[in-house]
Parts: sequence; structure tokens; C-alpha cells
Amino acid sequence: MSRIAYVNGRYVPHADAAVHVEDRGYQFADGVYEVVLVYDGAMVDELPHLDRLDRSLGELRIAQPMTRPALRSVMRELLRRNRIRTGLIYMQVTRGVARRDHPFPKNAEPALVMTAKRIALPAAAAIENGVKVISIRDIRWERCDIKTVALLPNVLGKQQAREAGAHEAWQVDDAGCVTEGTSTNAWIVTKDGELITRSANQSILNGITRLSLLRLAEQEGLRFVERSFTLEEAKQAREAFISSATAFVTPVTQIDDAVIGNGKAGSVGLGLRRAYLDYAAGAGRTA
Ligand code: PLP
Repeated sequence: MSRIAYVNGRYVPHADAAVHVEDRGYQFADGVYEVVLVYDGAMVDELPHLDRLDRSLGELRIAQPMTRPALRSVMRELLRRNRIRTGLIYMQVTRGVARRDHPFPKNAEPALVMTAKRIALPAAAAIENGVKVISIRDIRWERCDIKTVALLPNVLGKQQAREAGAHEAWQVDDAGCVTEGTSTNAWIVTKDGELITRSANQSILNGITRLSLLRLAEQEGLRFVERSFTLEEAKQAREAFISSATAFVTPVTQIDDAVIGNGKAGSVGLGLRRAYLDYAAGAGRTA
């Protein structure tokens, strides 16, 4: 079955899905995006993702490409046409097509593209063994809270991780504190069992999975605090993990050369992963 994409009002074969060369997303990275998990036939945290899309658009003063009900119906139609049960929806809104010039164009219409694809869930063994992350300097701008398509530092960081045989790179600010991964939020569990993730300000993307995990941690009665932690503290932690819409909770068992805990996934992370998957199969779904 061939894949179908949505491009500015039309459903087209994925191979033919294209935007104009003067789309400002292409020329200036002048656009935002969202990734929504599809789990067992339903979207997870759909409305919080759409709220964050609205916020990102608002921060960049890009107009909404369509009403929310219209957007939600395109999302469903795309899933139906691509017969996705477990996968993701990627949507991107740019300021539109205009003659290349830095200021906002007067008459451009925002451009919306959407794709959907299947993803395979990681094998249980991979989760049990955890993944390796490396540390890199955070060289990004001061509005990492906006989910823009300007991802070059993230691309370079992820590539550096791959070349080092690692799964992710944790970015470290000038104070020596971990901000986040290149496409995930960063978490640790201290030796005395406290769950920690950086508080959400302009230095990180406030992950929708992060927010759901904080709610689940509260429901499970876990001790947690939102605060910065240094790379050194992370290396001494009992557990570490990353979160995102597609990674859920993925345990981290090595940071640079430091083995975390006993080198296997820890119980807090595994417990939160289970709780998140239950949530994705239940309360977090929208039809
Ligand atoms: N941080 C960054 C830089 C990201 O790109 C992402 C996801 O793409 C996340 C965190 C996790 O966000 P979410 O849980 O909404 O997928």
C-alpha cells in the first residue's frame, strides 16, 4: 500500500508530496511542527499536542492554517488512508510561500503539511538493557520552548551520538546542567529515589510526554522534583531515562563512560514506562 501525505489542502501520494521552493520553512526554517503518537489505533495526548502547536504558532505570530476541528479531521483522514494503528503523525506549519525576504510577508497563507507513518515498538530486551547517551554542549538559541523546525543543532548532536555508537546526546548548558536530549527530555532518579527532570522554561521543549509522566508520577505517589541537574549528578544517578512521544520512557544505562546504576533499566523508569503505555491505551487516547 502506498503512503499518502497531506499537502496544503490535498491528499497526495507520499512520493509526490512537495512544497514550493520559496516556502519559508525551506528557506528560513520559519515554521513549527508537532509529532503525535498513534497507539493501537488512537492518538495519544492529541489535544495537548494541538495546544502546544497553537502556542508555537502564537509565539512566532504565524496564523492558524485551519480551525481545530478541520485539523483533527485531516489527522483522522490521514490515519485512515495510511491504515496506521501504531505509528505517528507529523505535522508542520510554516509561514507560507513568499518572495525571499526576511521580514514577515504581507499576504502569505500559512502552509500545512502532514505525514503519517508506522513505527515498531522497541523489543523488551532493548528496553531492559537501556541505551547510551553522550554529552554535548548546548549550542541552541534561547527559545527552545518553541517547537520550530530549526533543528540544526539537534541534527548535529544526534549525528555525533550516532558516530559515538550512542542513542541520544544530552545537551549541557554553560552552568554544567543537562537541558535535554536532541529529541527527548532528560530524567534521572537520585540515589535516594527522587525523580528529577529540568523545569520547563525557555531552555527546553516542554514535552507532552514529560507532562503526562509528571502527572503519572504524581498518581503513582512517586517523589519528584522539577529542577536542573548537572551532568556529574546524572552520572552518579541510580537511574536515568529519556522521554518523547515516540520513545515513551527509554531507560539510559550509560552516559559518556559512566555506567548508570547496575547497567540495567531501573525500576522507576520501567514502572513509568508501563504506566505510560497503560495511559496510551486508555485515558490518554482520543477516538
Ligand atoms: N525535547 C526536544 C528537543 C524534542 O524535539 C522533543 C520531541 O520531539 C522532546 C523534547 C519531547 O517532546 P514530546 O514528549 O512532546 O514528544
